[in-house]
Amino acid sequence: MRRKLKILFVSAEVHPFAKTGGLADVSGALPPALKLLGHDIRVVTPKYFSTSKVGKKMRSIRMALTVPGSKQKGTLFQSELLDNVPIYLIKQDQYYNRKHIYGEPGADYPDNVERFSFFCRAVLETAKKLDFRPDIIHCNDWHAGLIPVYLKFDSWFAKTKTVFSIHNLGYQGNFPYSSLKVTGLDEHLFHTEGIEFYGQLSFLKGGLMFADTLTTVSPAYSQEIQTPKLGFGMEGILQKRSDDLHGILNGVDYTVWNPKIDSLISVNYGPESLSKKTQCRQDLIKMFCLQLDIKTPILCMITRLSEQKGIDLIMQAKETLNAWKVSLLILGTGETKYESFFKNWSQECPDRIAATLNFDEPLGHRILAGSDMLIMPSRYEPCGLTQMYALKYGTVPIVHEIGGLKNSIQEFNIYTGKGTGFKFKTPTKNNFLKSLQKALSCFNQAKIWKNLMLNGMSKDYSWESSAKRYSSLYYKTLRS
Ligand code: ADP
Repeated sequence: MRRKLKILFVSAEVHPFAKTGGLADVSGALPPALKLLGHDIRVVTPKYFSTSKVGKKMRSIRMALTVPGSKQKGTLFQSELLDNVPIYLIKQDQYYNRKHIYGEPGADYPDNVERFSFFCRAVLETAKKLDFRPDIIHCNDWHAGLIPVYLKFDSWFAKTKTVFSIHNLGYQGNFPYSSLKVTGLDEHLFHTEGIEFYGQLSFLKGGLMFADTLTTVSPAYSQEIQTPKLGFGMEGILQKRSDDLHGILNGVDYTVWNPKIDSLISVNYGPESLSKKTQCRQDLIKMFCLQLDIKTPILCMITRLSEQKGIDLIMQAKETLNAWKVSLLILGTGETKYESFFKNWSQECPDRIAATLNFDEPLGHRILAGSDMLIMPSRYEPCGLTQMYALKYGTVPIVHEIGGLKNSIQEFNIYTGKGTGFKFKTPTKNNFLKSLQKALSCFNQAKIWKNLMLNGMSKDYSWESSAKRYSSLYYKTLRS
């Protein structure tokens, strides 16, 4: 039998403690799945203002954290994820007790370099204080990118290896050279083979250069980021490290995302009681005061409103969508131009269009359950979770064939009856509309549509198989 591993899992967002997107969902669900494989896994994250409002019990473990060279001190809190996975929350109110996690919408906090370099160093101090000498530190996204760098200069971790996971290469944590001193890192690291990236200090590059193993969240995205089109300038490094780079599709936490047991939706349903989904649809019609006849499909988007998510395509398609008289529900926050667009549209067509421009998790569940289709025209999509959730709720995804969307959705074939959704290759308005048209024509044929919904609902994207892949990768990393 293989030796069970000691793993420290580091993330800036962990559901249900703090969430802005998919990173939180992964960080809340993958560690319990690894625990079920027998590993001793512990999670570390900052303790934010929002964290304190979560119903989970947290207790202070009266440990002060001092970080070499920093005047700030932290303290440690402890709570639990599912399956008794310990989670340690680093409290440092000056840095983390703020309204938002990364900054106001559209404007990152100016001291993020301080906030997250402190976090990286405090994580290592946490391990020492707990006398938990990990085999693996699994670092997620740029916020944890400097951990593999600090580790190289800390003999306490001489036997520890690092895995760095890229959840979105578009967010890099790049800061002016002048902020190097805040990190406490030595000047000699500031060069092209180190943490310098076009004259700036890059947390992400730190992770990419210094971690022993790299992963990203879908096989397709692991290829795409090695090209200039989607490599955000990091493609050269990723090509060089391609042997160490692995694409593992994210999973779904079906204890949270499952219409059979979801307590946030108006009626529970499953493949054997699919007709009850209609009541969830009615719930939305009532809530948003829509005037729809039974044949009008409800489309939805639950998303950050950023350029990445392909909102421009929807803007271009507005006239046609109006002419086709589809209903569209948006739940999202983000760039003002997109928020204004949806707000105006919903005011123009209140019978069919509704925009909720805030972050509302329970509403996300209700919308997913009551809608007929989910649209995700993302320009790029590292994995995307919402389309996999939609499948379970019998809500048919229409997606751009890219990244994780490519790996998780199979094109529906009306003749064979196989497939789970609709995909378009090049993201143009016409291609999107062609896919939508195919979907609408199937929607009008009840038997075909039911078959399509059931195909999606029977898909199993649970974390178990992905967790096994991470586990194998940890052993491989330790052998390297
Ligand atoms: P990303 O990580 O790029 O934001 P994903 O599809 O991987 O995209 O994950 C997004 C997660 O955030 C999903 O759980 C989705 O339901 C949720 N989400 C996004 N925007 C909102 C919102 N405004 N309200 C509630 N949940 C949201």
